[in-house]
Amino acid sequence: MKIIQSILLSLLSLSVCFGQKEKLNDKIVAAADIEAESLRSVYIDLHKNPELSMMEFETSKKMADQLRKLGFQVITGIGGNGVAGIMKNGEGKVIMFRTDMDALPVKENTGLTYASTVVMKDASGKENPAMHACGHDLHMTTWLGIIQAMASLKEEWKGTLIAIAQPAEEGAAGARAMLQDNLFKKVPVPDYALCYHVNADLPAGTIGYCPGPILAGVKSAEITVYGSGGHGAMPQNTIDPIVLASRIVLDIQTIVSRRINPVKPAVVTVGAIHGGTKNNIIPDEVKMLLTIRFFEDDVFQTIKTSLINITRGDAISAGLPENKMPLIVYDNSDDPPTKNDPDLVMKSVRSMKDILGDNNLIQVAPSTGSEDFAQYGLTSEKIPIALFWLGGVNQEKYRDHIENGTPLSPIHSSSFAPDFDPAFKTGVKAMTKNLIDLFRK
Ligand SMILES: [Zn+2]
Ligand SMILES: [Zn+2]
Repeated sequence: MKIIQSILLSLLSLSVCFGQKEKLNDKIVAAADIEAESLRSVYIDLHKNPELSMMEFETSKKMADQLRKLGFQVITGIGGNGVAGIMKNGEGKVIMFRTDMDALPVKENTGLTYASTVVMKDASGKENPAMHACGHDLHMTTWLGIIQAMASLKEEWKGTLIAIAQPAEEGAAGARAMLQDNLFKKVPVPDYALCYHVNADLPAGTIGYCPGPILAGVKSAEITVYGSGGHGAMPQNTIDPIVLASRIVLDIQTIVSRRINPVKPAVVTVGAIHGGTKNNIIPDEVKMLLTIRFFEDDVFQTIKTSLINITRGDAISAGLPENKMPLIVYDNSDDPPTKNDPDLVMKSVRSMKDILGDNNLIQVAPSTGSEDFAQYGLTSEKIPIALFWLGGVNQEKYRDHIENGTPLSPIHSSSFAPDFDPAFKTGVKAMTKNLIDLFRK
């Protein structure tokens, strides 16, 4: 009898628990539906009025105003136009959710009724068209939807929610600037930091995840190849840096194919090569610009060493003296690899599946793109971070792409346009559910 009683009791508590879970999911779904209506105009306004990196003056004001309306304590002007909102809701974990705010110097060609026609000065004073070609307008609106849902469901969780609106993600300066401006002294240090980035290969309605490194580290290098110039008709009296640079470009192709472990991804691309002024002059130097992508630091070190060996070796074989060895200069403002915390990702995936269904969470391979969200996981506090892909492709277009090979518009292109409604609702539902579960654990 006792056994039957205890079975009945545990069945009862299971059904109560199940019922509570259903109720929470219903509340989140309802919040996402209502917000899709009310925040669509915010999305259109952000899309119509993009601002370039470091110039997000109006956008950051809009984000700060929205945070204030929701009852967040707001700090502005962090690392430039950075905004932080703090919502204290009792004792518990501290969780940070971040959006980025900047647009790209791209002339919009989507044909949307609310397409951007903005032309504005960039941080260097140069006039450029501006467009949210990387979907940061969708990030901001989804972020607002999530924190609005969190504010309206305060009785469901305890802890501190930190909402970060970051400037200048493009160009990799924003996260660094906010951290250098003591972000984690201005807001409580988070136990977890999470964010979305829209994905132009995944259908709207899905979330992509990767438990581990998800985005590559990027390093930019400039190589100056020296020579000894002269008349193009008398090459025997010169050391031709154009021939030498050409050889270096080809030898660089052996770094990934012969120096790096084939199971470790890497890219070394020579994206620009400039030298010479006229057909009959052999110049004194050639400049090359490279982009390097990697997921592990030892891979970058191998690339670095190989570049020295190749450029020096080729220069010596061309007969150049020690004082004319090629010069390699790295830009130190680049992004490190974004390494998701596998445990945080899998915890989140379980929560997100619970509200979206198993089929709408898609495990994806790492991408050789980059994101400065990586920076938040690299401070001395060693905060576990997780970036999730928010599927953005209209489902019909996605089917057409799969069935007929019709190309999709990639991010950073003038024709990129995510499908707002399903992407927004999916993003709000999945992350709100996930944040509440993380606060409860
Ligand atoms: Zn971008
Ligand atoms: Zn982006």
